Amino acid sequence: MSRLVVVSNRVADPRKTSSGGLAVAVGQALESSGGLWFGWSGKIREDGTPGEGELHTSQAGKVQMATVDLCREDHDAYYLNYSNGVLWPVFHYRLELADFRAADLNSYRQVNKLFAHKLHSLLRPDDIIWVHDYHLIPLAAELRAMGCRQRIGFFLHIPVPPPQLLAAIPDHEWLMRSLFSYDLLGFQSETDVTHFRHYAESELHAQLGDDGLVDAVGAQVHARAYPIGIDVDEFQSLGENGDAQDMYKKLKSTYSGQRLLVGVERLDYSKGLRHRLYAFRRLLENYPENRGQTTLVQIASPSREAVGAYEDLRRSLESLSGSINGDFGDLEWNPVRYVHRSVARKRLPGLYRAGSVGLVTPLRDGMNLVAKEYVVAQNPEDPGVLVLSRFAGAAEQLQEALLVNPYDVSKTAEMIQRALHMSLEERIERHTALMERLREHDVHWWSKTFLSDLNSGR
Ligand code: UDP
Repeated sequence: MSRLVVVSNRVADPRKTSSGGLAVAVGQALESSGGLWFGWSGKIREDGTPGEGELHTSQAGKVQMATVDLCREDHDAYYLNYSNGVLWPVFHYRLELADFRAADLNSYRQVNKLFAHKLHSLLRPDDIIWVHDYHLIPLAAELRAMGCRQRIGFFLHIPVPPPQLLAAIPDHEWLMRSLFSYDLLGFQSETDVTHFRHYAESELHAQLGDDGLVDAVGAQVHARAYPIGIDVDEFQSLGENGDAQDMYKKLKSTYSGQRLLVGVERLDYSKGLRHRLYAFRRLLENYPENRGQTTLVQIASPSREAVGAYEDLRRSLESLSGSINGDFGDLEWNPVRYVHRSVARKRLPGLYRAGSVGLVTPLRDGMNLVAKEYVVAQNPEDPGVLVLSRFAGAAEQLQEALLVNPYDVSKTAEMIQRALHMSLEERIERHTALMERLREHDVHWWSKTFLSDLNSGR
């Protein structure tokens, strides 16, 4: 049996619950065959030299972890500026937030080359390599240049924008051509696959075949949708532990007599937090019976604070939630409980369960796992209602949620009102259908299907 090698920007100990569903899933796939997990160590060397980094290896159960440190200059240019200051905004359709600098692109290439070089020394001839996400798009091309012939697959966790947006990235041809060094490309949704195929056709003169085949730049690659799922059983059992139950009880007693709307995300402009607050304000304006009765609990966990656009967003959310509280609140009731802190994963199921409505309204999202977690955390006999943006990858699967266009603030408010008044029968019907879908396409289905296609060359 081939050894699985997973490569991602960050490496997490798969045995820790705090690592999250993806780490658990990837960890399980790695453990089943005994594998290697490679990535950045998370350490920044202030005195390091660009393009160089020390390799560390350790063992976590059956999984070998191999990580590389980055020097400050590489970290800032590769991670902050290029990955999160160019690729993240453009791939989330936000060209105006991208800051293109040739030096950052250069570092992005150099760090990918550094990773390829370190990884190459650890590879065996029959390894299967699975590379994750936008930080590492050119990794396979660098490995191939070093003579690597193993099968290599790539999964993109974020969306693919329409071709015209991709084409605005300076050197986009180089970036996108490098995807043809992989054997298999996995995307979150059919929309993403369509955009990739259109880009390849219009910019790289690709011939498009059946079953996801794309033939361009002298290579053939299969590009398909493998929507990532969650570990339903793991998340359900997380909901049964003391931490989650405590969270639920605390919220129920603090907000007794209130209906809760809950939102949980990293503080990121892709998540539609400002639009969500506008929609909540509209709910209180248009449906005044909610005043004093309905509270929005919004967790916005700190994220990428060294990137400028995030600081601006933080300030605007603070002022927006403050103004809603000032305009509508009174001595007994604060309409918005805005929390700029993260909530430990083991407590999250309790928070989700306390919410009569789960608000997941990103302007654009690759998948959105919070939407799936919210559904799984519900009491099947009295479930809450998921209000989900049609622009989240999850919307292709979760059709029984109440789907909204987050830019349409009045309609979103109307949908929240509908969710608050939905009959028990309809809530159960929708929840049952959603759970079936989540069970069928869980995270184990995702990793098994991708790896089996990569292995078999399908
Ligand atoms: N999460 C968490 N604590 C928080 C906020 C988020 O543990 O305070 C977790 C959440 O449970 C989910 C993940 O972070 O598993 C976020 O994944 P998602 O796909 O929704 O968004 P991303 O942050 O990857 O864009």
